Amino acid sequence: MYTKILLPESEMPTHWYNVVADMPIAPAPYLGPDGNPVPPEAMLAIFPEALVMQEMSRERWIEIPEPVRDVLRLWRPSPLYRAHRLEQALKTPARIYYKNESVSPAGSHKPNTAVAQAWYNSQAGIKRLATETGAGQWGCALALAGQMFGIEVRVYMVKVSYEQKPYRRSMMETWGAEVFASPTNMTESGRRVLAVHPDSPGSLGIAISEAVEEAASRADTNYALGSVLNHVLLHQTIIGEEAKKQFELIGDYPDMVFAPCGGGSNFGGIAFPFFADKAVGKEVQLVAVEPTSCPTLTKGAYAYDWGDSAGLTPLMKMYTLGHDFMPPGIHAGGLRYHGDSALVSQLYRERLIDAVAVPQLETFEAGVLFARTEGIVPAPESCHAIAAVIREARRCQVDGEPKTLLFNLSGHGHFDMSSFDRFLAGELEDYDYPQEAIEESLRHLPKIAGL
Ligand SMILES: *Cc1c(COP(=O)(O)O)cnc(C)c1O
Repeated sequence: MYTKILLPESEMPTHWYNVVADMPIAPAPYLGPDGNPVPPEAMLAIFPEALVMQEMSRERWIEIPEPVRDVLRLWRPSPLYRAHRLEQALKTPARIYYKNESVSPAGSHKPNTAVAQAWYNSQAGIKRLATETGAGQWGCALALAGQMFGIEVRVYMVKVSYEQKPYRRSMMETWGAEVFASPTNMTESGRRVLAVHPDSPGSLGIAISEAVEEAASRADTNYALGSVLNHVLLHQTIIGEEAKKQFELIGDYPDMVFAPCGGGSNFGGIAFPFFADKAVGKEVQLVAVEPTSCPTLTKGAYAYDWGDSAGLTPLMKMYTLGHDFMPPGIHAGGLRYHGDSALVSQLYRERLIDAVAVPQLETFEAGVLFARTEGIVPAPESCHAIAAVIREARRCQVDGEPKTLLFNLSGHGHFDMSSFDRFLAGELEDYDYPQEAIEESLRHLPKIAGL
């Protein structure tokens, strides 16, 4: 019986899949501060034209440029695994599969889009990219990708992660990037936060403000975002496309697809190609898994909000906990974002996908069981998907139902060992973000005439 299902390099997808083509209702437009849709030209200050076109595109298939495929071939196609030992440990009749995105050089799915973004920027003559990073995965991915195409990378790293994960910083610097703990005093956005909260642990929202501010103020510098935006989710669909080919090879097909959900990119990446089948009648359930401490889809409001804390980005219609939401310092840094992809949000709103929130301790228990059965130490973010899959596999055991379950192993946890240390020492706690705090933050949603 097979354990890993491999595709030859020649079977690597040649096109990304754009879910917008199959959405029943066109996505809500991004809005400017005046409440009018943002014209594509406005985004050209910080993004290359090719990416702006992808952001707005309704084409079902978009070709992956050959130089991008050349770099992706360093680790793609990624393997699909059958989790035999996890199944045995759970005594479940379910068949559990995972797509292993931890095999990229940076250790997560994020280089799938970083490589594409760096290439399009290099083609547009851009010399520098500014970005933010939470847990450090995105900063690493962009640092790596910048090297491949001769682009300098500057990273604003959320301060708590900068302190918790020094080796992520070392890795970015090894790939030639400059890294600063955000909030910094180098930008207006950072200085404004420090004036009020000198000890601010930082947040993705603040770090995004700093990077956007820098990109907008320099002609040679663009901004790159590791999640949330349509073009980022587009670039990640190579994950689900490969997975579909791999399932075809073995004559199986998932009943349910799970992925951790921070900004929605690895979820969209694995789930959207299956949504294409769902759109034409196939039964498949797509489940985004988030932390109870940052429950954007399950407890947020569906409203127009800014993507950053200073209000520099366009307004996006999404599930949000409010742009000034300060997430607790949980150990899945990549899932501590107040908003979510507009595409994922709209599909959730239309009940075409599902979402579930899982508490921190359950995710680490799941991650440790996974490490002890399958061998790979998963990223704390990925542990969320594993926990949700384990819940479902246990349900299958009770009901005697042999479902096929697929999840995205979005990354490994080799730089997160201090989090595992704390879990193993019994020092981690569950944290449900209090409803009153969510409501307080939601009171600060932008008020736009006519909405
Ligand atoms: C960044 C990250 C996530 C969450 O981001 P999404 O955009 O929701 O995919 C999940 N897992 C890992 C390993 C990450 O690095």
